[in-house]
Amino acid sequence: MGRFDGRIAVITGSARGIGFGTATRFAEEGASVAIVDLDESAAAEAAARLPLVEGAKAIGVGANVSDGASVEAAVERVVSELGGIHVLVNNAGITRDNLLFKMTEEDWDLVMGVHLKGAFLMSKAAQKHFVEQRYGKIVNISSVSALGNRGQANYSAAKMGIQGFTRTLGIELGPFGINVNAVAPGFIVTEMTEATAVRLKMEPDEFFKLNAEANPVRRIGYPEDIAAAVTFLSADESSYITGQTIYVDGGVSLGT
Ligand code: NAP
Repeated sequence: MGRFDGRIAVITGSARGIGFGTATRFAEEGASVAIVDLDESAAAEAAARLPLVEGAKAIGVGANVSDGASVEAAVERVVSELGGIHVLVNNAGITRDNLLFKMTEEDWDLVMGVHLKGAFLMSKAAQKHFVEQRYGKIVNISSVSALGNRGQANYSAAKMGIQGFTRTLGIELGPFGINVNAVAPGFIVTEMTEATAVRLKMEPDEFFKLNAEANPVRRIGYPEDIAAAVTFLSADESSYITGQTIYVDGGVSLGT
């Protein structure tokens, strides 16, 4: 018996990285999974690699979470091809880092569009089904950068915005049997953090080592660390938790 037997989980930005790690964990625990990502073929290829249990299905759906029509079509496709929707993980993300004086209006709009508007559009499309069935779980991916990070005014604002959005949906959707929570990852090894190393003109391994040394638990994180928290918040055992943000960061947000 898996925690997600018979459940259908949609994870955005899950063709790789944290999203794929999370999709893998849902599949291992019995869910049918929709990999939603910008590139339909990358999404389909990732869906084909999921360790599904017998009877479960996976599909890859190409969609841009910052576009309303694309989101509506993606959610309707999931419902028609997988037979419903029970869990939504708003994970898709990008960075466009720069100090404020160099940050362009486009850098600002792009980051807000994917993280904040994307979470809004996907949640709105999913809640229609969740409210009808009086059941649903939404987990939004925030970040330790919500607390402030040099060069990330756009990303930090979007990620703190996600936390306010999560609290508000917790209040609005709780009466309909819907839990809404957020996970705020610390440093997690993915292509996103490898790209950050390149931007800082460092070797990724050196960058990872420095981050591990500065972390209270003396290691960096992996997509599996985030998947564990997301699946906990998506399972029925956590149904008395809503509107919360859990930092999964080895304690780095505690300060030293
Ligand atoms: P990643 O490896 O860069 O993966 C992000 C995925 O999102 C990519 O597959 C990307 O597709 C997709 N995506 C981007 N824009 C999209 C859009 N408009 N619509 C649909 N999909 C889109 O990133 P990650 O490190 O796994 O990060 C996942 C989430 O965790 C993000 O929200 C990120 O902000 C957050 N986070 C990450 C860390 C970390 O240390 N890695 C820390 C804190 C928070 P393309 O490849 O086609 O662009």
